[in-house]
Amino acid sequence: MERSLVVSDVDGTLLGDEDGTRRFGEFIAEHRDSLKLVYASGRFFYSLVESIHEHHLPAPDAIICGVGSEIRDYPSGEIDKPWQRRVLQDFHAGDVRDALRSFPRLVDQPQACQSPGKVSYFLHGADATQLNALRKTLKFKGIHADIVYSSGRDLDIMPEGVNKGAATLHIAERLDISHNKIIVCGDSGNDLPMFRLGLHGIIVANAQPELVDYHRPGLFHATKPCADGVVQGLNYWLMEAVN
Ligand SMILES: [Mg+2]
Repeated sequence: MERSLVVSDVDGTLLGDEDGTRRFGEFIAEHRDSLKLVYASGRFFYSLVESIHEHHLPAPDAIICGVGSEIRDYPSGEIDKPWQRRVLQDFHAGDVRDALRSFPRLVDQPQACQSPGKVSYFLHGADATQLNALRKTLKFKGIHADIVYSSGRDLDIMPEGVNKGAATLHIAERLDISHNKIIVCGDSGNDLPMFRLGLHGIIVANAQPELVDYHRPGLFHATKPCADGVVQGLNYWLMEAVN
């Protein structure tokens, strides 16, 4: 039987309720032989390794870090080189910073949140007009980048086409897993590119407004929050739909 690939966001999806996280661990342990597990986060590898240990999250096969800007195997930490080349081929973080210097409300996120393939700011309560102004400025300066805005606060400037969704498809191809065997889980805007791919999806009950209102066929809106919502959705997809 072909294995399923579960790709899940971490903060607010698998973490946020300790009892739920424990129940998720128990569910994965029961089904570990029939699935591959990947975490997809805005955070970077070593921060996620800490969380895996601290919260007893099940060991994944790989981690999508920095909103898709990096893929590493777990536990080795080995970087996916083909993906790294794709991310950095036409993106220079310094150029992005220079281009956006004139936007006064942008506050740099800590150094631990930055990488050569992702420039991150805090921007509180931005509306569509402000985000469009940022997009236009980048375009005007000849920078091929995408803007990801999450939770009314986190602004990530990414290489064009690089996000958690594209990284998910890259891993699926590497593992030779077909699209109808992929299940993606999340709670906020930087998870949207995964949900837009037409894969099986799980949106947890505590999701941010940008996801609560997002509907399309193939999405399971859990009635339970955080990891309990993921387990609810996995039961739905693994038991009823995928097999
Ligand atoms: Mg999240």
